[in-house]
Amino acid sequence: MKVILAKTAGFCMGVRRAVDATMDLVKQGTGEIHTIGPLIHNPQVLKYLREHGVDILTNIPEKVSGTIIIRAHGVPPLQEKKLAESGAMIKNATCPRVIKVQGIIKKYRQQDCFTVIVGDKNHAEVDGLLGHADSRGIVVSNEEDVAALQISGPYIIVSQTTQDRESFARLSDMILQKFSDGRVFNTICDSTSKRQDEVRQLCGKVEAMIVVGGRSSANTSRLADVGRSMGCPVYLIETEEELDYRNLLQYDKVAVTAGASTPVWMIDRVVAALEDFGEGKC
Ligand code: SF4
Repeated sequence: MKVILAKTAGFCMGVRRAVDATMDLVKQGTGEIHTIGPLIHNPQVLKYLREHGVDILTNIPEKVSGTIIIRAHGVPPLQEKKLAESGAMIKNATCPRVIKVQGIIKKYRQQDCFTVIVGDKNHAEVDGLLGHADSRGIVVSNEEDVAALQISGPYIIVSQTTQDRESFARLSDMILQKFSDGRVFNTICDSTSKRQDEVRQLCGKVEAMIVVGGRSSANTSRLADVGRSMGCPVYLIETEEELDYRNLLQYDKVAVTAGASTPVWMIDRVVAALEDFGEGKC
């Protein structure tokens, strides 16, 4: 079996920064380390961090000792203020590309513009973006949300950084047709679109696609969706132990890609297991 590894597989810049910042603190061993919510959507990395003393906060206590890491998704301004008041040291690992979207929202809010965010409701990045709009923002995820939308006055449309390009274009057009005086900022991160483009290309060259990543990772699931939409059989797995060899027997050429929160060591294990299997296949 021939195994093609996608060039874009694995950590994106924002996730790498956040994981590196956390690992640096672990190595320094200078005190308690907390993250606001899980650092990344990957159970194997989270297990590793937990074993190295990194604690996940689900809410912010009044007093916190040690360091709190703000993950790549960022947080709403009110939460950042609460973190600063807790007494902990703050390590802000918000991805620079998310900071850019927050900045656009803030700038236009100061000009009294309403913000429409095209993205997943209750996703941490989207909650953070919404916070930057104060009470002058809303999240739309689908056509029904657009149908229910009411806006008066100038507004902007931005996207969650991991949003699918086609659905962002479709929903933005619908909103612009419904309400005049809108301006669109395509804030989709190119690391997401590059990954999705490569999946589309690889689907034409292989018989099946293996997507490696956390099941709760939105960008990993989207990669699998893109593969399926191209008519390619897709196997979404978290570890090499989930490889379905009985099914894989039918393929001579497969591709492996991985979400933006999948570590390289996990991708390597999957590729090695597939290559071992391929060698034994007659
Ligand atoms: S997907 Fe893009 S915006 Fe999101 S964390 Fe990664 S680099 Fe940053």
